[in-house]
Amino acid sequence: MKKRVQFLALVAAFAWIAVNAFAQTESVAVSSRSALSAALVGSTINVDGDVAAARQVTPGGEVIWKKVRESIDNAGHRHVFARQYLRLPGGDVEIFGSEIGMHYGADGKLSAALGTQFRSFHIANKLRLSSSDVQQVAAAKLTGGLSKRSLGRAMLPSAEITGHKPAVLLAIPSGNDLRFAYQVAVSDENGRSIETLIDADSEAILHASDSAQFGNCGPSLPKTMVGAFGTPQRSDVPHPAYQNPYLGRGLAANATSERGTDFPYEAFVPGYWNTSPDMYIFQEIPPYTNLGFRCDSTRLEYPGYTLFPVKADSGYAQAWGYGRFDDYDPTGGGWHGSAAGDALHKTWQTVSAFSDLGRHGFDGYWGPMQVVIDASMISFPDSTAYFWNTSATTQNPGGPTVYITTPPYNSTLYYSSASLDQIAHEWGHGVINSTAGFSTTTCVPHTPCVGTQLSEGFADVFGQLVEKMYEPLGSGPETSSDWDLAEDVSKIGQYAFSGNRDDGSGHYYGNFPMFDNKLHRLDGADPANDHDRGNMLNVVYYLLSEGGANPACTRLYNCGTTVPTGLGSYGAGKLLFDTLQFYLPSTTTWDTLPNYANFATFDLYSRCSTTPKYDAADKQESVRKAFEAIGYATTNANRTCP
Ligand SMILES: [Zn+2]
Repeated sequence: MKKRVQFLALVAAFAWIAVNAFAQTESVAVSSRSALSAALVGSTINVDGDVAAARQVTPGGEVIWKKVRESIDNAGHRHVFARQYLRLPGGDVEIFGSEIGMHYGADGKLSAALGTQFRSFHIANKLRLSSSDVQQVAAAKLTGGLSKRSLGRAMLPSAEITGHKPAVLLAIPSGNDLRFAYQVAVSDENGRSIETLIDADSEAILHASDSAQFGNCGPSLPKTMVGAFGTPQRSDVPHPAYQNPYLGRGLAANATSERGTDFPYEAFVPGYWNTSPDMYIFQEIPPYTNLGFRCDSTRLEYPGYTLFPVKADSGYAQAWGYGRFDDYDPTGGGWHGSAAGDALHKTWQTVSAFSDLGRHGFDGYWGPMQVVIDASMISFPDSTAYFWNTSATTQNPGGPTVYITTPPYNSTLYYSSASLDQIAHEWGHGVINSTAGFSTTTCVPHTPCVGTQLSEGFADVFGQLVEKMYEPLGSGPETSSDWDLAEDVSKIGQYAFSGNRDDGSGHYYGNFPMFDNKLHRLDGADPANDHDRGNMLNVVYYLLSEGGANPACTRLYNCGTTVPTGLGSYGAGKLLFDTLQFYLPSTTTWDTLPNYANFATFDLYSRCSTTPKYDAADKQESVRKAFEAIGYATTNANRTCP
């Protein structure tokens, strides 16, 4: 179901040699400027004028720290993230896997610096491949006999050097050394793009995965706005507020003279008051083709996207010819607009929730949000949804987009847009990608890939958080009292993942292969499915909200580890949301996450200038125990006010 395409994309990734990532990094956790100056390895450039790290000169060049992002939270705390680079005659080269977050209080004082850095910088290979040749070489590797031998097929049927994205030279960890490697995107003639990591000496492909499959699909944009209506997909869900298209189930839509009389409107919500993003709902238009070849199989089969046509007054969803509630009437009624209405409605709720949490849209800048209702995804057993942030240089709907696929006729699921936690999960990926952006480039082999596991786990938590903020209590459809993910997509009571159910050796969801939710570090071997492993964060969120012990503690023998005080679903969710936004570096792992969360909890929630002082000791203890309950202990003592 959801996020499935990401999984497939990872299956498509491959490697000829393994990179032993992060073998020689060390963790840094300090809380004073002088300690930070002493700890940092390398000079600081544009990081903080008062942080004076020692110069570090290697045989190849100088090591420097450069700022990569900065944000200010609601309390006025500043968060600056920096990475190590090698300063070489040809330019600065990022040392991949280094990142430290420096966190300043409202008074400007450093409160914590947390992250990982490298201490030795021996480059084990030569920089033989020049940047101007990288795309040619990578394209040959991905289309040639070497690719065929390894994969049984060529990664790309053909390749074209579009050059829209220059190759980036990195120093990546390899055992106790570093190696030069290029990160480069190789495109075929139809715009499909493969993100590739290639050794700068041996020319071996170290990593390759789809990054943009939809480059050639371009919709038109709307002109004027009028009102139109969407309806819920589920007949058992009330849909109030027809009157208010912004707050209810309805759609705001665009009138265009070209539309037929049945579908005179297009789905679009414009931003207003500069405090909301523009939202667009697109529909794939014929010819429909298979996943991954939709826009690139042959030049004769170019589908595109159009803004979704919505009926002026479409009424309730009905059972169509397939004997289920369907968004499409094959007998001639055409598209109904229910999935589009739900998608827009729930995207709106997600944005509102993020706004309440202090974030301006998914990206922090009210960036536009797009949803595509896919007409055909025939290789998929059920409805799926996934987030894809294609390059800004590709055509629309390039850029941040949630794709929702149609379920097949015999599906036990509705469209994924029937479920708020599903839609919020996908936009949660947008939050993650524009903040911590957990590293996946060196996830070789890609299973298990910790960065992807953490991404799925946090996206699930944010999905649950938004659902609990915007849906009423209760255990029926579109209510919020459960701890299950994507339960509203199901027609027969199934769930995809869950923070408080022990599914033993696995459970079925729709027609997908079995999911096997992991509730603890030792709950079985690492599975191929990153969502299963990411489910451990759903357990953390549940325990941090409600208190208590791991739902599977009897079989895990850890019922003695309990969260003493639940913080409530909002308090726990906001704490995890803030931890991600402001404290987690891209290099976070399951092992280091509890330490970051603990530091973040004190920084974000202590009140040391009040009387009496508040150390947030209760929150720190709950965070500590919630992670301990999934098998990740932090040995740090609780932090206290000075
Ligand atoms: Zn996901």
